[in-house]
Amino acid sequence: MAASSREGKDLATHQRARGWLTGVSDALVSVFFPAGCRICDRLLTGASRVPICGDCLSSFVPAPGITCEICGRPAPRPEQAQLCPACVDKTYAFDRARSFAVYEGALVDAILLLKFEQIRPLGSWFAERLAEIVRREGNAMAADVVVPVPLHRQRERERGYNQAALLSRPLAKRLHLPHKAVLLMRTRARPDKRILTLEERWESVRGAFATRPGSQVDNLRVLLVDDVLTTGATLDACARALRDAGAKSVLGLAVARAVRNPMPNSSEW
Ligand SMILES: [Zn+2]
Ligand SMILES: [Zn+2]
Repeated sequence: MAASSREGKDLATHQRARGWLTGVSDALVSVFFPAGCRICDRLLTGASRVPICGDCLSSFVPAPGITCEICGRPAPRPEQAQLCPACVDKTYAFDRARSFAVYEGALVDAILLLKFEQIRPLGSWFAERLAEIVRREGNAMAADVVVPVPLHRQRERERGYNQAALLSRPLAKRLHLPHKAVLLMRTRARPDKRILTLEERWESVRGAFATRPGSQVDNLRVLLVDDVLTTGATLDACARALRDAGAKSVLGLAVARAVRNPMPNSSEW
């Protein structure tokens, strides 16, 4: 057996073992497998299945309270904030977007753990934070169905899961709403090359999503869920596909908001 394929097999065995462990009660795991916080390495003492310590979890910086009403972009001068220039120009096809915290510090590591290690308890922890936002926003974020931003099926096959669904599924459960993981699909893969400019980012997702034939979205309010919200281009492209299929409204919800993100049509704000 070649070294690389043996390593692959070892990794698969290791992952299976981890998967099994998550099914065992928390107490047993913490007694037999004392573990460190996956971000700062401090010993985990609680019985939580989230492999991140309380200090790291509480270090996440909440998304600013005063933002653009539509896209949730933080306002530089809170006393003036209503709509940002992009939203005054009606740039986005979604009705409203909100996020839990700022994409920086420990949250960047936490998102990577979710994305590449499929840590479901962390997905559930984030889902509770997202559910709190939906409850707080009341009617403005009221939805009929919860949908994850999809990966291209080839990417999902490689990874084995869609990290956005690790958030949207437990969120739907908390909100007592149906979860539709296959309602939306990504029809064009993300280009391999690193996307550098803002225009390339928008171009790479324009028309890259479609609703699955036969899926019912007519007159529904769709809550779209993703891990990170950067330019809003992905959310916008998904929202356009859903609108074309008859969705009544599209709301976006992300765990993290990249704050220092460029605007589609303004250098201000
Ligand atoms: Zn920690
Ligand atoms: Zn805005």
